[in-house]
Amino acid sequence: MNNGTGKKSLYGKLLSMTLLPLFLLALIITFFSARSFIDTINKEVKKGLMDLSATILTLYDYSYPGDYSVVMQDGELYMIKGDHQLNGHFTVIDTIKEKTGADITIFYQDIRVITTLHDDNGDRLIGTKVNAVVTKDVLETGKAAFYPSVDIDNKQYFAYYAPIINSDGTVIGMLFVAKPTQEVHRTVMKAVMPIILLGIAAMLIAAFVTMKFTKELILAIKKIQVFLGKVAKGNLRDVLDYDVAKRDDELGEMGRYAVTMQKALIEQVEKDALTGLYNRRYGEKKIAEVQKKHLNDFCLVLGDIDFFKKVNDTYGHECGDIVLSEVATILNKNMRNQGFVARWGGEEFLLVFENCNLDEAVNKLEHILDEIRKKEISYKDEIVRITMTFGICQGSTDDMDDVIRMADSKLYEGKAGGRNQIVQ
Ligand code: GH3
Ligand code: MG
Ligand code: MG
Repeated sequence: MNNGTGKKSLYGKLLSMTLLPLFLLALIITFFSARSFIDTINKEVKKGLMDLSATILTLYDYSYPGDYSVVMQDGELYMIKGDHQLNGHFTVIDTIKEKTGADITIFYQDIRVITTLHDDNGDRLIGTKVNAVVTKDVLETGKAAFYPSVDIDNKQYFAYYAPIINSDGTVIGMLFVAKPTQEVHRTVMKAVMPIILLGIAAMLIAAFVTMKFTKELILAIKKIQVFLGKVAKGNLRDVLDYDVAKRDDELGEMGRYAVTMQKALIEQVEKDALTGLYNRRYGEKKIAEVQKKHLNDFCLVLGDIDFFKKVNDTYGHECGDIVLSEVATILNKNMRNQGFVARWGGEEFLLVFENCNLDEAVNKLEHILDEIRKKEISYKDEIVRITMTFGICQGSTDDMDDVIRMADSKLYEGKAGGRNQIVQ
């Protein structure tokens, strides 16, 4: 959002101030949750495999009591448990695989004797060897080991290798129990996906709300900015958007202060301090506007208080001021909805009747003059009464100064002709 005069908008700053921490937080939470999650999965899988391997070893011990041994026959190696030959007997391990989903292998040393693992052609991986790391970790130490990621025939497994130890303490082989990584991940993802989706949805909602809130905030700021900009450039009549003015927060208050400032500025620039009427400068501007709007369908009046100097001389300047205010009040009241009135100079006033022909305007002016004649202005114990002389002329699209000069000459005629009258 560009703000016109400034190069950078607050929008980006506010958004990065709110969204960045949000995303950062989400990232940190995701990172640490993922780590602890992976740890937990590993632990759980390891425990499951450990239990299973213990069960299988116990099962073999129970079914075929006695130690494991090997014999060579016709160049082939046979592994025996008690008096049971293991080679070729897959029923036990295949059943366990079917029930638990775990792959099982019994090793003689590092060679697979029976296994549920198959290669791509569907052949069991019998006779193949375990990798060197496992040999070192398990066979050489006689201790079990768990690996979260083992590659067997290009497939990844969570794998647990337990040493098979005879009664005399010799490590004769290993039991391998494993679950395909992909399978575990699939199960985990199934459980976790709804949580992830919920998290993403919550993030998106938070981001959306933040963006909406920020946008709305910036919009209000922008409206105040545009308003102040126009006022600063002299467009004192601009109106602040109501949505901003009615806000009950700091921005609303800011907007209302701006309007108060605007009103004070209007008073200073357009109004006369004593009477509260438009001043001469604004009166001239208004004439131009009326001319543009009504062409010649308006009437222009210049009025002057008669023998005003005498009021000042007799009752004092303060009384003169009160008289000016009272006259202004009468003029203003009568000109409401008719046009406008301005203080033209000392005790001289400009009246403009809009949408009005000369006869109608004279009529209205008679009424005003009557009210002025009758007005009893009290000052201290005195009652002051005054009269006024008006010069009126039909408005035209001529040069504004000519129209004013015309009204002024009529006023002069009125003064010369005895005052207290309207000359058209
Ligand atoms: P005329 O009937 O010919 O208009 O006579 P006048 O006495 O009204 O006219 P003149 O021009 O001789 O005097 C106007 C006086 O108005 C002179 C000036 O001191 C006074 N005046 C101008 N502005 C103010 C003001 O703001 N307050 C007061 N009290 N007097 C003012
Ligand atoms: Mg006068
Ligand atoms: Mg005068």
